[in-house]
Amino acid sequence: MLKSINPLSGKKVESYESHSEKGVEKIINATNKAWLQWKNTDFAYRSQLMLNIATVLRSKKTELAHLMALEMGKVIHEGISEIEKCAWVCEYYATNAENILEDEIIQTESTKSFITYQPLGTILAVMPWNFPFWQVLRFAAPTLMAGNTAVLKHASNVPGCAMAIESLFREAGFPENIFRTLLIDSSMVEKVILHPVIKAVSLTGSSPAGKSVAGIAGKVLKKCVLELGGSDPYIILEDANLGKAAKKCAAGRLMNAGQSCIGAKRFIVLDEVYAHFLEHFTHEMNKAIFGDPSDPETTMGPLARMDLRDALHQQVLSSVEKGAEIVLGGEIPNRKGAFYPPTILENVKPGMPAYDEELFGPVAAVIRVKDEKEAIKVANDTIFGLGAAVFTSNMERGEKIAKFALDAGCCVVNDFVRSDPRLPFGGIKESGFGRELSSYGIKEFTNIKTVVVR
Ligand code: NAP
Repeated sequence: MLKSINPLSGKKVESYESHSEKGVEKIINATNKAWLQWKNTDFAYRSQLMLNIATVLRSKKTELAHLMALEMGKVIHEGISEIEKCAWVCEYYATNAENILEDEIIQTESTKSFITYQPLGTILAVMPWNFPFWQVLRFAAPTLMAGNTAVLKHASNVPGCAMAIESLFREAGFPENIFRTLLIDSSMVEKVILHPVIKAVSLTGSSPAGKSVAGIAGKVLKKCVLELGGSDPYIILEDANLGKAAKKCAAGRLMNAGQSCIGAKRFIVLDEVYAHFLEHFTHEMNKAIFGDPSDPETTMGPLARMDLRDALHQQVLSSVEKGAEIVLGGEIPNRKGAFYPPTILENVKPGMPAYDEELFGPVAAVIRVKDEKEAIKVANDTIFGLGAAVFTSNMERGEKIAKFALDAGCCVVNDFVRSDPRLPFGGIKESGFGRELSSYGIKEFTNIKTVVVR
């Protein structure tokens, strides 16, 4: 049984009967059967369906945003933006998939040589709860447009969203079993990966989950794409516009109540502007308005689950025990719901959870450094490598640092990191491997086939 619990009230929203092993087997086989037809459909047909789903998404954006608010506490305006972004990724691949996957002629001494991108079959997606629609649609749109079918194992706390996504495909007119949801918990994932029909797996989630899934997929030599955790560093140089930088840094830290893989997490500030930046940053972080995520006035809802809130607080307490100092927040509010306040820790050092681990909530670790060289060293002193940002008024300097110095999959100058369907997205080190979005994402689950005609 999978249950969704409202993180605001602690009350059950809904229970869903899990699929049995037999039920899972039936769904997987059905998606494989559907693939045998789907792989032969043309791009124009798939594109029309993808455009239909974008229309359905837009028509239901308020309803779906309320569902996210109920199941995982996302505030309504962020939920609506998430659904609009899902529609965008569907439109992006509806419009561009055919061009990206066009055969490429390569001149050789043969009569004809070319590269063609052929679908693999049924792909498993294991997804997290933090962007319950976006994470799934950014996987599904390219994967289906490339001619694959898909099964989804969503996070256990968002079964309502998982079922709603399956319904969207039906409503958009997709043939049966092109996209199916499996209502299972993570203990069943191994069996699904090992199933001969499953050709590859895409996991978005924590690094431990990624290691487990990669281990299982490795045993049977199935490809995986892993989008994992992050501890994104934001460098504030001495020539940055501090007011603007503080606004962007607070927005990057507080989006989705701080529960984002590409959330700004460590703020590395040059000594000569440290005090000034901290003042601006504290002011910006303190602006959050807590409350019911369904209330349009609210800018920060509860965290998705009580256990996640408690784990975050433990990371804060342990960092403080080891010498970090609280500038803002750091105490569980005396109110119902899984709320955690915007929190700033300074004097953060290696050996503290706030320095070494991912803080998946509205907690900022601020680190003082003497110069640019030390800032880059601290930025890269992490097991993760997802996103990074640098703030400076010298664009050339910023671009050079972003291009050559920062070890991350996505580096931004003077803004916070965000994903965009047109640009590749993914990490290095323990943030995972493979890429989603753009032309890179759609090729991940294809057979990049060479054809030579002598
Ligand atoms: P999580 O606990 O790793 O769960 C993610 C998904 O993996 C869920 O469906 C979960 O199922 C499943 N899972 C967990 N352990 C597993 C295992 N050992 N074997 C197979 N499946 C397993 O992560 P989360 O708490 O939902 O999400 C937060 C994490 O995701 C953060 O670390 C965040 O940075 C990362 N994330 C990364 C990206 C990215 O693009 N790089 C984007 C969003 C989030 P159950 O729910 O049933 O446990």
